[in-house]
Amino acid sequence: MTRPRPRVVVLGGGPGGYEASLVAAQLGAEVTVVEAEGIGGSAVLTDCVPSKTLIATAQVLTRARESGELGLQLLAGEGSAAPVDLAAVNERVRALALAQSHDIAESLRSRGVQVVTGRGRLAGRDPGPRGGHRVAWTATGADGGTGGDGATGPQDGGELAADVVLVATGASPRVLPDAEPDGERVLTWTQLYELAELPEHLVVVGSGVTGAEFAGAYRSLGARVTLVSSRDRVLPGEDADAAGVLQDVFARRGMTVLSRSRAQSVTRTHDGVEVVLTDGRRVTGSHCLVAVGSVPNTDGIGLVEAGVELSDSGHVAVDRVSRTGVPGIYAAGDCTGVLLLASVAAMQGRIAMWHALGDAVAPLDLGQVCANVFTDPEIATIGPPPDDSVRTVTLPLAGNARAKMQAFGDGFVKLYCRPATGILTGGVVVAPGASELVHPLSLAVAGRLTVDQVAQAFTVYPSLSGSLAEAARRLHTRAQA
Ligand SMILES: Cc1cc2nc3c(=O)[nH]c(=O)nc-3n(C[C@H](O)[C@H](O)[C@H](O)COP(=O)(O)OP(=O)(O)OC[C@H]3O[C@@H](n4cnc5c(N)ncnc54)[C@H](O)[C@@H]3O)c2cc1C
Repeated sequence: MTRPRPRVVVLGGGPGGYEASLVAAQLGAEVTVVEAEGIGGSAVLTDCVPSKTLIATAQVLTRARESGELGLQLLAGEGSAAPVDLAAVNERVRALALAQSHDIAESLRSRGVQVVTGRGRLAGRDPGPRGGHRVAWTATGADGGTGGDGATGPQDGGELAADVVLVATGASPRVLPDAEPDGERVLTWTQLYELAELPEHLVVVGSGVTGAEFAGAYRSLGARVTLVSSRDRVLPGEDADAAGVLQDVFARRGMTVLSRSRAQSVTRTHDGVEVVLTDGRRVTGSHCLVAVGSVPNTDGIGLVEAGVELSDSGHVAVDRVSRTGVPGIYAAGDCTGVLLLASVAAMQGRIAMWHALGDAVAPLDLGQVCANVFTDPEIATIGPPPDDSVRTVTLPLAGNARAKMQAFGDGFVKLYCRPATGILTGGVVVAPGASELVHPLSLAVAGRLTVDQVAQAFTVYPSLSGSLAEAARRLHTRAQA
């Protein structure tokens, strides 16, 4: 007798959900993804893909403005008006995100994954002979969902039986009670792409990764920008040296950064916005982006009723193979709050399926996560932050031949290793294109290479990656005689 195919239902079609679905299909499961808004999730439709597309445009303007040293006069320098057609920029951003969403949906369907356009929730145990869980869904698409359980036409909703459920419902922008977004002047990051004209003066509340990325991008596009930061410096969660470089660059490019300034309320005035700080100061602007973190989408989807443990912040508690405490229910991505990155969501989703479907699996290792802040310069990191137990070398890029040729001096490479063994444990790269430069370090950390092994590999001359090898060389410790 052949064993029945395992039935997997995935709630949420972002990177956590769609990458898991691909793995589950590859391992022979019958897979259904229930997605309320669009395959690709927030990552593709409102967060990573749109923001990085916008930033690609902004970077061109930065290069043009800072081209004077190269002997070019493309734009007259900081503060010069740039010919930005924001409606066209945003149209491109939205089209690219939609196309990416369609591509991923197509790739799921081509591998036999059923996609249901609806909002799903856990609906109790399955009374059938195989046991497991039930997932109820309500159609959210204009034409109804594509139908679960072998239905052929549009439906308003239905129920699915599952041996394994993966909850990958993501997170949504946190809204402050006295800073309600109106979608026109007071905006969350998901609403920026509806702007048809460049804000005259954008006030950004929140100096974490999202706030810093948008503040930098809008300044490059030509908007006046005030960044309201509740902490001493921008990017409080990142490497302090890297954040220092960025703060200097922001100031040089004419951005106003208000440190140790906490926003209390944001209100709309007749022609703009007013941000009141907790110390009574008032900041006015034409628009305000509120980027103060996110909340997990875990309310009202039957998790508590199913016995799944949630943290005080509402995140789903999972172990390193993405298991919740309830057999057969796994969770991945932003709804778990483990590390809010698309790459981590995807890995958690894959790990869940490898584990649930009995394939070889290694638990999630956050010490190997590569991350990047897409400011200009970019800040890429690999490995846990350095502490007193590691040896560190930092090389400013101002001394790198290629950097001089390309006329940029803001940035550095920092490597750190275990003193006893020389094994590289992490690094930070601050440079244009740092997201690409960090990959060799990621390979080295994953492969537990020593600084000598990194130093002995050839790099191109002249190249920024030459500074990675040079930093590794400086970490060499002479062997004891
Ligand atoms: C502005 C911004 C830029 C970012 N840039 C990057 C970046 O460059 N690189 C990076 O690695 N990370 C980036 N991130 C983080 C990244 O977007 C998230 O970590 C990632 O989206 C998490 O993926 P996910 O699958 O958990 O959730 P999501 O991508 O949020 O997908 C979850 C999906 O679940 C759906 N859903 C929710 N509830 C239900 C339900 N009940 N039924 C059915 N469907 C449901 C939602 O509609 C959504 O489509 C960025 C975040 C922001 C805010």
